[in-house]
Amino acid sequence: MSENGKLSKFWLWELTRPAFEDWLDNEPAPVVVLGIGSIEQHGPHLPLGMDSLGARYFIHEVASRTNSVAFHPVWPGYSPHHMGFRGTVTLSEDTLLNVLMDCIGSLADHGVKRFVLTNHHGGNSNIFSLAIQMAKRYHGVMVTAPRGPSDTELAKIQGERSRKYWDVHSGVNETSGALYMFKEFVEMWRIPEDWKPSLSIDPQLMEYFDTEREDYELVSQVRAASGQPDTDDFSADGIYGLNDPRDADPEEYRKRFEERIKFFEDFIKLWKTIPIPPAYKE
Ligand SMILES: [Zn+2]
Repeated sequence: MSENGKLSKFWLWELTRPAFEDWLDNEPAPVVVLGIGSIEQHGPHLPLGMDSLGARYFIHEVASRTNSVAFHPVWPGYSPHHMGFRGTVTLSEDTLLNVLMDCIGSLADHGVKRFVLTNHHGGNSNIFSLAIQMAKRYHGVMVTAPRGPSDTELAKIQGERSRKYWDVHSGVNETSGALYMFKEFVEMWRIPEDWKPSLSIDPQLMEYFDTEREDYELVSQVRAASGQPDTDDFSADGIYGLNDPRDADPEEYRKRFEERIKFFEDFIKLWKTIPIPPAYKE
C-alpha cells in the first residue's frame, strides 16, 4: 500500500503497480534499499540462507523506517569457495553482476534515482563494489553503500573478535545474529558437545592471528596471502574461527543491529535533503 507517497508495505513485490506509482510520484525523494547475501553452508548449526535472511531482515527494517522500497533481488550470491559443502548454491561472477545491474537498471528506467545498497556476504564484496561503480556510470543514478557506525563500543568489540578469533563465518558474531533474527532456523544442538575449532592451518600462520603482536599488520597480511581458496581446504565442519559459536549473544547483536539500522536511517534522511545533482537528471 501507498497513499500520498506514504508506504505501509515495503517489499517491492508486495506493492500493486498503482501503489508503487503513488510512492514514486509523491515521495519527495524516493529511495530503494537493495541488499544481497548468499545461499551457502554455514556450519552445522546455521541455515544455508543465513546471509540472505540477514540481508532481508536488515533492508526491510531500514525501508520501513525511511519510507523506502525494500528489494532483495536474488537469494544466492557469489560462493564458489563454499561449494565443497553440500547445499551451497553459487552464482557466477557475471551472473551476480548482471543481476545487480539489471535490477538497478529496471528501477532506474522507472525514475528511481537513489539506491542504498547493503551486502551481507564477504564473497560478494568485489562484485558488489563494481556494480555500484557501474550502475552510477551506465544507469545514471545515485548508488551508495553506507557503512557504519564504526567507532562505537560494540563495533570495536565485534571487530576485535573478528580479527582475533577470525570470527567471520558461522562463529559467535553470525550465530548471535541468527539467534536474534531467526532463531527458528538455528540448530545449536548440532554442534557436538566437545566441539573444538576444526581449522587445519599451518602452525606458524596460526600464530599470526594474535592481534597483540607488534608486527600484527605485517603478519596478518602474510597469513591472508597464504590462505587456501576453499572452505573445505581448511575447515572440516564449515565454521571459520577459533571461538565457540555457543558463546553467541543475541542481545549484543540486537544492540549492534539497532546502531547499524539507525546509521542507515540517519544516512537516508540526510541524503534526501540533498537535491539530485544535474548529472543525474533526465
Ligand atoms: Zn555468513
